[in-house]
Amino acid sequence: MSEQSEPAERELAVTVPGRGCDGCTLCCKLLPIEELAKPASAWCPHCDPGRGCRIYADRPSPCRGFYCGWMVNGKVAAHWRPRDSRMVLDFQPTRKRLVLHVDPGRPDAWRKPPYHTDLQAVAGMMAETGGHVLIACGPNFTMLLGRQEFPLGRLLPSDKIVYYRRPGPTGWAYDVTVNPGTADEQHPGSGAVSMGDR
Ligand code: SF4
Ligand code: SF4
Repeated sequence: MSEQSEPAERELAVTVPGRGCDGCTLCCKLLPIEELAKPASAWCPHCDPGRGCRIYADRPSPCRGFYCGWMVNGKVAAHWRPRDSRMVLDFQPTRKRLVLHVDPGRPDAWRKPPYHTDLQAVAGMMAETGGHVLIACGPNFTMLLGRQEFPLGRLLPSDKIVYYRRPGPTGWAYDVTVNPGTADEQHPGSGAVSMGDR
């Protein structure tokens, strides 16, 4: 999340050489910020779109800690630059997932080449270890598990996505359900996602 001019602390972050915010500010629109009661896909009132954060020195901790996947992961191809793709990658390894925030102004951006091919490859790799890709576009969500796609529609923060893996005719097959905030039994290759936790 960018300042209008890059500060020293920004330069100390472990970012891919040559990649910087440069006034992008897309994450200040797409990501929810609980501390600011800012919903997803709405511009933060402190953002100067295309320039940076007006309260950079006092921005809340989630903003301080966030660097999109394009900035910090050298394996991410250049075409994922948020300013161009209109999508923000958020790798969450401890939760074994990639959350992809898509600008509602371009809701099908992730379905177009080369993005969809990339996402299928990542979803396939993550499924090997029980992980998944979650695509957020405004209030609507889609889950990618292996090569399967699950449109989940509008979800509440109290909802929990539960997925189970089972042997299928050509590999693993998945079942996905949405529960209203219940605890879930865990199985290998399966998992649960609390929507208030993204
Ligand atoms: S989406 Fe990435 S490049 Fe754009 S402002 Fe946020 S951290 Fe910077
Ligand atoms: S407080 Fe600043 S860094 Fe955080 S979302 Fe708002 S504009 Fe972006």
